[in-house]
Amino acid sequence: MSILETRALVKRYSSRVCPLNGLDLEIQPGEWISLTGVSGSGKTTLLNLLAGLDTPTSGQVNVLGRDLARLSRGELTEFRREQVGLVFQQFHLLPYLTALENVMLAQHYHSLADARSATDALVHVGLGERLDHRPEALSIGERQRVCIARALVNDPKLVLADEPTGNLDDVNARIVMGLFGALHRSGHTLVVVTHDDLFARMADRVFRLEDGKLLEVPRKVDERDWVEEEILHEIWSCTEKGISTTLEAMNLAHHVESLQAMDTLAATGQITVTGALLRLTRAGLPRARAAVRRHRIVERLFSDTFQVDGEEVHELAERFHALMPYGSVGPICSYLGHPKTCPHGHVIPPGDCCSDASDRETRLPQLV
Ligand SMILES: [Zn+2]
Ligand SMILES: [Zn+2]
Repeated sequence: MSILETRALVKRYSSRVCPLNGLDLEIQPGEWISLTGVSGSGKTTLLNLLAGLDTPTSGQVNVLGRDLARLSRGELTEFRREQVGLVFQQFHLLPYLTALENVMLAQHYHSLADARSATDALVHVGLGERLDHRPEALSIGERQRVCIARALVNDPKLVLADEPTGNLDDVNARIVMGLFGALHRSGHTLVVVTHDDLFARMADRVFRLEDGKLLEVPRKVDERDWVEEEILHEIWSCTEKGISTTLEAMNLAHHVESLQAMDTLAATGQITVTGALLRLTRAGLPRARAAVRRHRIVERLFSDTFQVDGEEVHELAERFHALMPYGSVGPICSYLGHPKTCPHGHVIPPGDCCSDASDRETRLPQLV
């Protein structure tokens, strides 16, 4: 059964203003959906309808099998409290309460004020050290993370977020994006309105609102680049382990795409393939190094900031390449204090931002 469904959903403000004109959308449990579109295209209107904060002109919103229009005011309030976590661009934190109290306030409406689970929620978003800080003493990015902790404290099935990175600088935006990645992994259903293309593409499906209609945006082809980089990364890793790189030794996710990518890498002189053996060339080295560095920095971000453990962290980093275009690697490296190793203990190739570049031992792949 779908967790959320709209049928012929219409929202009309006047004969001329009709931001939603017959939307049919079905979201499965655990799915992550991005909603994009120019400003004024009705993204926030749609999100408000899904949250039961607004009523449609016609059509239906069903959440967990219940038609929101049929709920009484009291039932609707209860539904929002129990089933939905809301994250807005504006923070709506109470200035005279601490981070912990702000999260506990959400619980209070949930009729369960429990400092322990509120603390857990804040630890989960990397704010374990900031429990007693008031909003004014928190950075903008930290405030947004308090809001996410607050949305999560009741463990809602559905998380609805409106431009959660909208007010954030690049580093904090990446952290919040990573947090959504971790939420997705833990099985939450996410509907995120965003204008950030990379953030949008982390989702399972991306939709664009245009002229009152919802269009599914096809995946971009540059995912092929990522498969190529995964292969370069695997060659690097095999070298570190002291084993020769063969197709069997590599831990590749997409078999057919990987074979195509191998051909491209060989044809462009970045690797050589001799029998079953893959080797990096001098030309392929810088790209391999950059790919390994980015992967391990993303791993550190997940493990240090969100306490994701070693088993999961590699997969998360693999899946959420989009979290970090190469331009963001330096700022995140600085934010993390220029880590020397990934959570698995492998050396992170240093970047221009790292002052200790010369004393890091990297075992370079044998070049051909
Ligand atoms: Zn690692
Ligand atoms: Zn650095």
